[in-house]
Amino acid sequence: MKINKIVLNGFRNYEWEAAEFAPGTNVITGANAQGKTNLLEAVYMLSTGRSFRTRFDRELVGFGYSSAEILAEVDSKDREQSIRIVLQPGQGKKIQVNGVRKTASELGQTLNTVLFCPDDLNLIKEGAALRRRMMDNAISQIRPRYAELLAEFNRLYEHKSRILKDWREKPSLLDTLDEFSDAMARVSAQMIRYRAAFSLRLDAAAAPIHREFSGEGEALRLQYETVSTVRDTTASAKEIYYDICEHQERHRQAELEAGQCLTGAHKDDLLVFINEKSARSFASQGQTRTAALSLKLAEREIFLDETGEYPILLLDDVLSELDPRRQSFVLNRIGGGQTLISCCEDEGISSRTGGRLLFVQAGRIRAGQRG
Ligand code: ATP
Ligand code: MG
Repeated sequence: MKINKIVLNGFRNYEWEAAEFAPGTNVITGANAQGKTNLLEAVYMLSTGRSFRTRFDRELVGFGYSSAEILAEVDSKDREQSIRIVLQPGQGKKIQVNGVRKTASELGQTLNTVLFCPDDLNLIKEGAALRRRMMDNAISQIRPRYAELLAEFNRLYEHKSRILKDWREKPSLLDTLDEFSDAMARVSAQMIRYRAAFSLRLDAAAAPIHREFSGEGEALRLQYETVSTVRDTTASAKEIYYDICEHQERHRQAELEAGQCLTGAHKDDLLVFINEKSARSFASQGQTRTAALSLKLAEREIFLDETGEYPILLLDDVLSELDPRRQSFVLNRIGGGQTLISCCEDEGISSRTGGRLLFVQAGRIRAGQRG
Protein backbone atom coordinates (compact mmCIF):
# COMPACT_ATOMS: atom_id res chain seq x y z
CA MET A 1 0.00 0.00 0.00
CA LYS A 2 1.21 3.41 -0.90
CA ILE A 3 0.04 6.94 -0.86
CA ASN A 4 1.04 8.74 -4.04
CA LYS A 5 -0.49 12.12 -3.47
CA ILE A 6 -2.29 14.08 -0.80
CA VAL A 7 -4.22 17.35 -0.98
CA LEU A 8 -5.06 19.21 2.22
CA ASN A 9 -7.65 21.92 2.28
CA GLY A 10 -8.21 23.76 5.55
CA PHE A 11 -6.69 20.90 7.52
CA ARG A 12 -4.73 22.10 10.61
CA ASN A 13 -2.21 24.70 9.39
CA TYR A 14 -2.56 23.65 5.72
CA GLU A 15 -4.75 26.14 3.89
CA TRP A 16 -4.46 24.53 0.50
CA GLU A 17 -1.51 22.32 -0.22
CA ALA A 18 -0.59 19.19 -2.12
CA ALA A 19 2.32 16.78 -1.80
CA GLU A 20 3.54 13.77 -3.74
CA PHE A 21 5.24 10.85 -2.07
CA ALA A 22 7.83 8.38 -3.31
CA PRO A 23 7.01 4.66 -3.12
CA GLY A 24 9.76 3.93 -0.54
CA THR A 25 11.15 6.27 2.07
CA ASN A 26 9.95 9.87 2.42
CA VAL A 27 11.62 12.20 4.87
CA ILE A 28 9.50 15.11 6.02
CA THR A 29 11.70 17.72 7.49
CA GLY A 30 11.54 21.32 8.68
CA ALA A 31 11.70 23.43 11.84
CA ASN A 32 9.36 22.96 14.82
CA ALA A 33 5.66 23.79 14.48
CA GLN A 34 5.64 23.92 10.66
CA GLY A 35 3.21 21.07 9.98
CA LYS A 36 5.26 17.84 9.86
CA THR A 37 3.13 15.93 12.36
CA ASN A 38 -0.03 17.48 10.88
CA LEU A 39 0.88 15.88 7.55
CA LEU A 40 1.38 12.44 9.13
CA GLU A 41 -1.84 12.91 11.05
CA ALA A 42 -3.70 13.47 7.78
CA VAL A 43 -2.25 10.27 6.30
CA TYR A 44 -3.16 8.35 9.46
CA MET A 45 -6.72 9.63 9.17
CA LEU A 46 -7.00 8.12 5.71
CA SER A 47 -6.70 4.65 7.27
CA THR A 48 -8.81 5.11 10.40
CA GLY A 49 -10.99 8.18 9.89
CA ARG A 50 -9.65 9.47 13.21
CA SER A 51 -6.70 11.46 14.45
CA PHE A 52 -4.10 9.98 16.79
CA ARG A 53 -3.89 13.30 18.65
CA THR A 54 -7.46 14.35 19.30
CA ARG A 55 -10.98 13.00 19.48
CA PHE A 56 -12.39 16.34 18.38
CA ASP A 57 -12.69 16.95 14.66
CA ARG A 58 -13.04 20.67 15.22
CA GLU A 59 -9.39 20.79 16.33
CA LEU A 60 -8.40 19.41 12.93
CA VAL A 61 -10.10 22.15 11.00
CA GLY A 62 -7.85 25.12 10.24
CA PHE A 63 -8.37 28.20 12.38
CA GLY A 64 -10.96 30.38 10.64
CA TYR A 65 -12.25 27.52 8.45
CA SER A 66 -15.64 25.84 8.76
CA SER A 67 -14.56 22.53 7.21
CA ALA A 68 -11.46 20.58 6.28
CA GLU A 69 -10.82 18.21 3.42
CA ILE A 70 -8.22 15.50 2.91
CA LEU A 71 -7.92 14.02 -0.57
CA ALA A 72 -5.53 11.24 -1.48
CA GLU A 73 -4.52 8.96 -4.29
CA VAL A 74 -3.34 5.62 -2.99
CA ASP A 75 -2.19 2.31 -4.45
CA SER A 76 -3.95 -0.57 -2.80
CA LYS A 77 -5.06 -3.99 -4.02
CA ASP A 78 -3.18 -3.46 -7.28
CA ARG A 79 -5.00 -0.35 -8.35
CA GLU A 80 -5.07 3.35 -7.77
CA GLN A 81 -7.87 4.41 -5.49
CA SER A 82 -9.01 7.75 -4.19
CA ILE A 83 -9.95 8.59 -0.62
CA ARG A 84 -11.72 11.75 0.42
CA ILE A 85 -12.51 12.85 3.95
CA VAL A 86 -14.48 16.00 4.67
CA LEU A 87 -14.68 17.17 8.27
CA GLN A 88 -17.55 19.47 9.10
CA PRO A 89 -17.66 19.96 12.86
CA GLY A 90 -21.23 19.88 14.04
CA GLN A 91 -22.33 17.99 10.94
CA GLY A 92 -20.10 14.95 11.22
CA LYS A 93 -17.66 13.72 8.63
CA LYS A 94 -18.05 12.45 5.14
CA ILE A 95 -15.81 9.65 3.92
CA GLN A 96 -15.61 8.43 0.34
CA VAL A 97 -13.49 5.80 -1.34
CA ASN A 98 -13.54 6.04 -5.14
CA GLY A 99 -16.55 8.31 -4.82
CA VAL A 100 -18.55 5.79 -2.77
CA ARG A 101 -19.67 6.70 0.74
CA LYS A 102 -17.90 4.66 3.48
CA THR A 103 -17.76 4.52 7.26
CA ALA A 104 -14.55 5.19 9.19
CA SER A 105 -14.25 1.50 10.07
CA GLU A 106 -14.30 0.58 6.37
CA LEU A 107 -11.25 2.70 5.52
CA GLY A 108 -8.94 -0.07 6.77
CA GLN A 109 -10.01 -2.14 3.78
CA THR A 110 -8.32 0.37 1.48
CA LEU A 111 -5.43 1.77 3.47
CA ASN A 112 -3.52 0.67 6.56
CA THR A 113 -0.97 2.59 8.59
CA VAL A 114 1.29 1.75 11.49
CA LEU A 115 2.19 4.82 13.50
CA PHE A 116 5.18 5.13 15.74
CA CYS A 117 5.70 8.30 17.76
CA PRO A 118 7.95 9.11 20.73
CA ASP A 119 5.19 8.18 23.24
CA ASP A 120 5.23 4.67 21.82
CA LEU A 121 8.79 4.20 23.00
CA ASN A 122 7.20 3.97 26.46
CA LEU A 123 4.71 1.37 25.26
CA ILE A 124 6.12 -1.25 27.60
CA LYS A 125 6.75 0.91 30.67
CA GLU A 126 3.54 2.90 30.58
CA GLY A 127 0.13 1.85 31.85
CA ALA A 128 -2.05 -0.68 30.08
CA ALA A 129 -4.05 2.01 28.24
CA LEU A 130 -1.28 2.56 25.71
CA ARG A 131 -1.00 -1.16 24.98
CA ARG A 132 -4.77 -1.50 24.65
CA ARG A 133 -4.77 1.40 22.22
CA MET A 134 -2.11 -0.29 20.14
CA MET A 135 -4.19 -3.46 19.95
CA ASP A 136 -7.37 -1.51 19.21
CA ASN A 137 -5.82 0.55 16.43
CA ALA A 138 -4.32 -2.46 14.72
CA ILE A 139 -7.33 -4.78 15.03
CA SER A 140 -9.76 -2.04 13.97
CA GLN A 141 -7.93 -1.62 10.70
CA ILE A 142 -8.03 -5.29 9.75
CA ARG A 143 -11.41 -6.15 11.30
CA PRO A 144 -14.15 -3.57 10.65
CA ARG A 145 -16.44 -5.53 12.96
CA TYR A 146 -14.01 -4.93 15.79
CA ALA A 147 -14.05 -1.18 15.21
CA GLU A 148 -17.84 -1.31 15.58
CA LEU A 149 -17.62 -3.37 18.77
CA LEU A 150 -15.10 -0.97 20.23
CA ALA A 151 -17.31 2.04 19.50
CA GLU A 152 -20.26 0.24 21.06
CA PHE A 153 -18.18 -0.72 24.08
CA ASN A 154 -17.03 2.85 24.62
CA ARG A 155 -20.60 4.07 24.45
CA LEU A 156 -21.75 1.50 27.04
CA TYR A 157 -18.76 2.15 29.25
CA GLU A 158 -19.40 5.88 29.37
CA HIS A 159 -23.05 5.37 30.13
CA LYS A 160 -22.47 2.79 32.85
CA SER A 161 -19.71 4.92 34.40
CA ARG A 162 -22.16 7.80 34.63
CA ILE A 163 -24.71 5.58 36.40
CA LEU A 164 -22.10 4.37 38.89
CA LYS A 165 -20.95 7.91 39.54
CA ASP A 166 -24.37 9.51 39.99
CA TRP A 167 -26.61 6.80 41.47
CA ARG A 168 -26.41 8.19 45.00
CA GLU A 169 -27.93 11.50 43.92
CA LYS A 170 -30.34 9.82 41.53
CA PRO A 171 -31.19 6.26 42.69
CA SER A 172 -33.58 5.73 39.76
CA LEU A 173 -30.49 5.41 37.55
CA LEU A 174 -29.94 1.97 39.09
CA ASP A 175 -32.97 0.65 37.20
CA THR A 176 -30.88 0.27 34.06
CA LEU A 177 -27.54 -0.67 35.64
CA ASP A 178 -27.87 -4.44 35.15
CA GLU A 179 -28.93 -3.95 31.57
CA PHE A 180 -25.76 -1.98 30.85
CA SER A 181 -23.58 -4.48 32.72
CA ASP A 182 -25.02 -7.29 30.65
CA ALA A 183 -24.54 -5.43 27.37
CA MET A 184 -20.95 -4.63 28.33
CA ALA A 185 -20.28 -8.28 29.16
CA ARG A 186 -21.61 -9.35 25.76
CA VAL A 187 -19.53 -6.83 23.83
CA SER A 188 -16.47 -7.54 26.00
CA ALA A 189 -16.75 -11.25 25.25
CA GLN A 190 -16.53 -10.59 21.52
CA MET A 191 -13.72 -8.07 21.87
CA ILE A 192 -11.71 -10.49 23.99
CA ARG A 193 -11.72 -13.09 21.22
CA TYR A 194 -10.34 -10.57 18.73
CA ARG A 195 -7.72 -9.30 21.15
CA ALA A 196 -6.64 -12.82 22.10
CA ALA A 197 -6.22 -13.80 18.45
CA PHE A 198 -4.30 -10.62 17.71
CA SER A 199 -2.00 -11.08 20.72
CA LEU A 200 -1.08 -14.56 19.57
CA ARG A 201 -0.21 -13.30 16.11
CA LEU A 202 1.74 -10.36 17.49
CA ASP A 203 3.65 -12.67 19.81
CA ALA A 204 4.61 -14.95 16.93
CA ALA A 205 5.68 -12.03 14.71
CA ALA A 206 7.52 -10.01 17.37
CA ALA A 207 9.64 -12.77 18.91
CA PRO A 208 11.97 -13.34 15.92
CA ILE A 209 12.27 -9.59 15.23
CA HIS A 210 13.20 -8.91 18.83
CA ARG A 211 15.67 -11.79 19.01
CA GLU A 212 17.53 -10.27 16.08
CA PHE A 213 17.07 -6.66 17.16
CA SER A 214 18.28 -7.10 20.73
CA GLY A 215 21.56 -8.43 19.45
CA GLU A 216 21.67 -10.53 22.61
CA GLY A 217 19.16 -13.08 21.37
CA GLU A 218 16.64 -11.92 23.98
CA ALA A 219 13.41 -13.87 24.12
CA LEU A 220 10.32 -11.67 23.90
CA ARG A 221 6.96 -13.11 24.87
CA LEU A 222 3.54 -11.48 24.93
CA GLN A 223 0.60 -12.55 27.01
CA TYR A 224 -2.88 -11.19 26.76
CA GLU A 225 -4.55 -10.49 30.09
CA THR A 226 -8.25 -9.90 30.55
CA VAL A 227 -11.08 -10.29 33.08
CA SER A 228 -9.72 -12.74 35.66
CA THR A 229 -12.65 -15.16 35.56
CA VAL A 230 -12.24 -15.81 31.83
CA ARG A 231 -10.73 -19.28 31.65
CA ASP A 232 -10.02 -19.51 27.94
CA THR A 233 -9.74 -16.38 25.79
CA THR A 234 -10.05 -18.48 22.64
CA ALA A 235 -13.31 -20.12 23.73
CA SER A 236 -16.63 -19.20 22.14
CA ALA A 237 -18.05 -15.73 22.81
CA LYS A 238 -20.85 -17.40 24.76
CA GLU A 239 -18.50 -19.18 27.17
CA ILE A 240 -16.46 -16.02 27.64
CA TYR A 241 -19.66 -14.10 28.27
CA TYR A 242 -20.67 -16.50 31.07
CA ASP A 243 -17.23 -16.18 32.65
CA ILE A 244 -17.49 -12.39 32.56
CA CYS A 245 -20.97 -12.50 34.11
CA GLU A 246 -19.50 -14.41 37.02
CA HIS A 247 -16.96 -11.62 37.58
CA GLN A 248 -19.72 -9.05 37.15
CA GLU A 249 -21.91 -10.63 39.83
CA ARG A 250 -19.04 -10.87 42.28
CA HIS A 251 -18.10 -7.23 41.75
CA ARG A 252 -21.51 -5.63 41.52
CA GLN A 253 -21.41 -4.28 45.06
CA ALA A 254 -17.79 -3.15 44.72
CA GLU A 255 -18.70 -1.25 41.55
CA LEU A 256 -21.44 0.62 43.38
CA GLU A 257 -19.09 1.47 46.20
CA ALA A 258 -16.16 2.46 43.99
CA GLY A 259 -18.39 4.37 41.57
CA GLN A 260 -16.64 2.87 38.56
CA CYS A 261 -16.78 -0.08 36.19
CA LEU A 262 -14.70 -2.99 37.44
CA THR A 263 -15.71 -5.67 34.96
CA GLY A 264 -15.04 -5.53 31.24
CA ALA A 265 -12.53 -5.33 28.42
CA HIS A 266 -11.49 -1.81 29.44
CA LYS A 267 -8.97 -3.17 31.93
CA ASP A 268 -7.24 -5.59 29.54
CA ASP A 269 -3.50 -5.59 29.14
CA LEU A 270 -0.84 -7.08 26.97
CA LEU A 271 1.90 -8.34 29.26
CA VAL A 272 5.41 -8.26 27.86
CA PHE A 273 8.14 -10.59 29.07
CA ILE A 274 11.81 -10.50 28.20
CA ASN A 275 13.59 -13.74 29.01
CA GLU A 276 10.50 -14.67 31.03
CA LYS A 277 10.75 -11.66 33.32
CA SER A 278 8.12 -8.92 33.27
CA ALA A 279 9.59 -6.24 31.02
CA ARG A 280 7.53 -3.55 32.72
CA SER A 281 9.08 -4.33 36.11
CA PHE A 282 12.57 -5.48 35.25
CA ALA A 283 13.73 -4.41 31.81
CA SER A 284 16.11 -1.50 31.28
CA GLN A 285 15.03 1.55 29.33
CA GLY A 286 17.00 0.41 26.30
CA GLN A 287 15.46 -3.05 26.45
CA THR A 288 11.91 -1.72 26.64
CA ARG A 289 12.49 0.69 23.76
CA THR A 290 13.84 -2.12 21.63
CA ALA A 291 10.85 -4.25 22.58
CA ALA A 292 8.45 -1.41 21.69
CA LEU A 293 10.05 -1.12 18.26
CA SER A 294 9.86 -4.89 17.81
CA LEU A 295 6.13 -4.77 18.49
CA LYS A 296 5.57 -2.01 15.94
CA LEU A 297 7.62 -3.78 13.29
CA ALA A 298 5.69 -6.96 14.08
CA GLU A 299 2.43 -5.09 13.60
CA ARG A 300 3.61 -4.29 10.09
CA GLU A 301 4.18 -7.98 9.39
CA ILE A 302 0.66 -8.83 10.56
CA PHE A 303 -0.81 -6.35 8.09
CA LEU A 304 1.34 -7.85 5.33
CA ASP A 305 0.12 -11.29 6.27
CA GLU A 306 -3.47 -10.14 6.33
CA THR A 307 -3.62 -8.04 3.16
CA GLY A 308 -0.61 -9.11 1.10
CA GLU A 309 0.76 -5.56 1.29
CA TYR A 310 2.84 -3.65 3.80
CA PRO A 311 0.98 -0.83 5.53
CA ILE A 312 2.36 2.70 5.39
CA LEU A 313 4.75 3.18 8.29
CA LEU A 314 4.57 6.61 9.91
CA LEU A 315 7.57 7.47 12.06
CA ASP A 316 6.85 10.76 13.75
CA ASP A 317 9.97 12.27 15.28
CA VAL A 318 11.08 8.91 16.52
CA LEU A 319 14.37 8.21 14.73
CA SER A 320 16.13 11.06 16.50
CA GLU A 321 15.23 9.36 19.79
CA LEU A 322 17.13 6.23 18.84
CA ASP A 323 20.83 5.49 18.95
CA PRO A 324 22.56 4.81 15.60
CA ARG A 325 22.40 1.01 16.02
CA ARG A 326 18.64 1.02 16.54
CA GLN A 327 18.19 3.55 13.76
CA SER A 328 20.00 1.27 11.34
CA PHE A 329 18.03 -1.75 12.44
CA VAL A 330 14.75 0.03 11.80
CA LEU A 331 15.89 1.52 8.49
CA ASN A 332 17.12 -1.86 7.28
CA ARG A 333 13.87 -3.56 8.22
CA ILE A 334 11.40 -1.26 6.55
CA GLY A 335 12.23 -2.08 2.95
CA GLY A 336 9.36 -3.39 0.89
CA GLY A 337 6.91 -0.81 2.14
CA GLN A 338 6.39 2.91 2.12
CA THR A 339 7.58 4.95 5.07
CA LEU A 340 6.95 8.56 6.03
CA ILE A 341 9.55 9.81 8.48
CA SER A 342 9.28 13.19 10.14
CA CYS A 343 12.28 14.82 11.76
CA CYS A 344 13.66 18.24 12.52
CA GLU A 345 15.89 19.59 9.79
CA ASP A 346 19.00 19.92 11.90
CA GLU A 347 19.09 16.33 13.14
CA GLY A 348 21.02 14.88 10.25
CA ILE A 349 18.52 12.05 9.97
CA SER A 350 17.85 12.55 6.29
CA SER A 351 21.47 11.90 5.40
CA ARG A 352 21.06 8.34 6.75
CA THR A 353 17.75 7.43 5.22
CA GLY A 354 17.85 8.10 1.49
CA GLY A 355 14.51 8.49 -0.24
CA ARG A 356 12.52 11.59 -1.08
CA LEU A 357 12.92 14.76 0.96
CA LEU A 358 9.92 16.96 1.65
CA PHE A 359 10.51 20.28 3.28
CA VAL A 360 7.69 21.73 5.35
CA GLN A 361 7.46 25.38 6.28
CA ALA A 362 4.39 27.17 7.67
CA GLY A 363 1.92 24.80 6.07
CA ARG A 364 3.67 24.69 2.70
CA ILE A 365 5.40 21.57 1.38
CA ARG A 366 8.12 21.59 -1.23
CA ALA A 367 10.49 18.98 -2.57
CA GLY A 368 13.72 19.32 -0.61
CA GLN A 369 17.24 19.18 -2.01
CA ARG A 370 19.58 16.37 -1.02
CA GLY A 371 23.20 17.08 -0.42
P1 ATP B 1 7.56 19.66 15.83
O1 ATP B 1 8.87 19.56 15.13
O2 ATP B 1 7.63 20.59 16.98
O3 ATP B 1 6.94 18.36 16.15
P2 ATP B 1 5.65 19.95 13.63
O4 ATP B 1 6.18 20.47 12.35
O5 ATP B 1 5.40 18.50 13.73
O6 ATP B 1 6.59 20.45 14.79
P3 ATP B 1 2.80 20.27 13.88
O7 ATP B 1 2.46 19.50 15.09
O8 ATP B 1 2.54 19.63 12.59
O9 ATP B 1 4.33 20.74 13.94
O10 ATP B 1 2.00 21.64 14.02
C1 ATP B 1 2.31 22.78 13.28
C2 ATP B 1 1.44 23.97 13.64
O11 ATP B 1 0.08 23.70 13.35
C3 ATP B 1 1.47 24.46 15.08
O12 ATP B 1 2.06 25.72 15.12
C4 ATP B 1 0.01 24.56 15.47
O13 ATP B 1 -0.27 25.75 16.16
C5 ATP B 1 -0.69 24.56 14.15
N1 ATP B 1 -2.06 24.08 14.23
C6 ATP B 1 -2.54 23.04 14.94
N2 ATP B 1 -3.85 22.90 14.78
C7 ATP B 1 -4.24 23.90 13.94
C8 ATP B 1 -5.49 24.30 13.40
N3 ATP B 1 -6.61 23.64 13.68
N4 ATP B 1 -5.48 25.37 12.56
C9 ATP B 1 -4.36 26.03 12.27
N5 ATP B 1 -3.15 25.72 12.76
C10 ATP B 1 -3.09 24.66 13.59
MG1 MG C 1 5.82 17.08 15.20
